[in-house]
Amino acid sequence: MIVCKFGGTSVGDAEAIARTAGIVGARLGRQPVVVTSALAGTTNRLLEIADQAARGQLIVALTILEELRTRHFAAIDALGVGDDAELVSDTGALFDELAHLAEALSVLGDATARSRDAVAAMGERLSAPIVAAALARIGVPAVFVDARRVLATTADFGKAEPRADEIAVACRQQLAPLVRAGKVPVLGGYIGATAEGVTTTLGRGGSDYSASLFGAAMEAEAIEIWTDVDGMLTVDPRVVPAARLIEHIRFDEAAELATFGAKVLHPSTIAPAVRKGIPVFVFNSRKPDGAGTRITFDAPRLPVRAIAGKARTVVVKVRSPRMLAAPGTMRAIFEVFERNRTSVDVVATSEVSVSVTVDDDQHLEAVVAQLSVFGDVAVERGRGIVALVGAGLGESTATMARALASLGDLRLHMVSLSATGINLTLIVDGGDVHEAMRRLHAAFFEGGA
Ligand code: ADP
Ligand code: ASP
Ligand code: MG
Repeated sequence: MIVCKFGGTSVGDAEAIARTAGIVGARLGRQPVVVTSALAGTTNRLLEIADQAARGQLIVALTILEELRTRHFAAIDALGVGDDAELVSDTGALFDELAHLAEALSVLGDATARSRDAVAAMGERLSAPIVAAALARIGVPAVFVDARRVLATTADFGKAEPRADEIAVACRQQLAPLVRAGKVPVLGGYIGATAEGVTTTLGRGGSDYSASLFGAAMEAEAIEIWTDVDGMLTVDPRVVPAARLIEHIRFDEAAELATFGAKVLHPSTIAPAVRKGIPVFVFNSRKPDGAGTRITFDAPRLPVRAIAGKARTVVVKVRSPRMLAAPGTMRAIFEVFERNRTSVDVVATSEVSVSVTVDDDQHLEAVVAQLSVFGDVAVERGRGIVALVGAGLGESTATMARALASLGDLRLHMVSLSATGINLTLIVDGGDVHEAMRRLHAAFFEGGA
């Protein structure tokens, strides 16, 4: 069997959903399990509903809700599934539930991570039954399955962690029999539930991660990520239109690119696939016959496969002439980040200082307070990361020299080459990230790399 995940733009409206249904229909022989995102833009609108309601702006929140209701029912009608009484009443019931949630938030005047997840999860709770109905309409034996009954997570609302053993059991019990019976399960991505059945989300862009978790649990032959670009590209095409398709890339390279800003894949997508050795493909749902990108263990080694970048990085520097060399200090410093659930992306050290980057500054105040026992702590906001990724990078000093030279007059704040030699990360001013990506891409991919 295979897992096919469709992102927001692949289910953005009736036309896109119909195209997606055609893609699944053409894959019936491979026993697909379908994972779908919310209709494009819905999750952002839902989170606005939560924020507006919590701010006491209930009317604004309900206006957005009505806009979403209109859009979903328009898709239902245009897909020709408006006579599916169960779909219509279930969709109406979800909007009623959403309205109740908004009212509750406006009374409370506060939206907790838990209630924001309840609201955000509505996007995929709405889209999956619509996609299942659209599939059924063209003769695909699709069955909607509530992902919350399968994707078991921790209670870390907003960024819940999967509970792999429970997911494996649920997949065996609930998805495998459907697949064996020739049915096509359709689940929403991004959402899950705690052991107590409370709704959670995996964090923004998490539908890719859902797909790979289901794929790993089901030991799928392949995980297909269907999106709005031709595959993984050599750089973000919104920043550099000259971006080129990568036909074959290694798991570790893809994971690094996702971590450092290639939004096409959620950063956690690769790990479950790697554990089971399942190839991941990225395809364009507007061009179903395109070559796409194949992600496996064995793509040929290149010094530079692609470039990624992300702005809004925070650098935290700890300086201590006395303590850093002492055994155990590094561990203690990293424990501070761990305790505060803040993950560190890039690290550079000297004898008297350690600098790290984080992109989630939610708990930064506590981090800084706890780090100050080790020495002087400085926080530099408004930085950005640019990463040059290639499995053969570490063996090519010339490539690294060329990368640094191509940056020209851009100011560099930190440089780090990963020990595996697959990733050269450069910390620049946040405002320079796009220019750095353009310069690096020009140096390596536009005109004789
Ligand atoms: P979906 O809704 O299908 O999950 P996303 O918007 O999350 O789609 O991801 C696809 C987008 O990722 C593309 O439209 C593209 O702008 C962006 N992107 C960033 N870096 C890359 C890259 N290296 N390759 C391909 N797309 C990228
Ligand atoms: N709908 C969710 C989001 O917008 C999950 C996803 O699309 O992957 O973040
Ligand atoms: Mg996405």
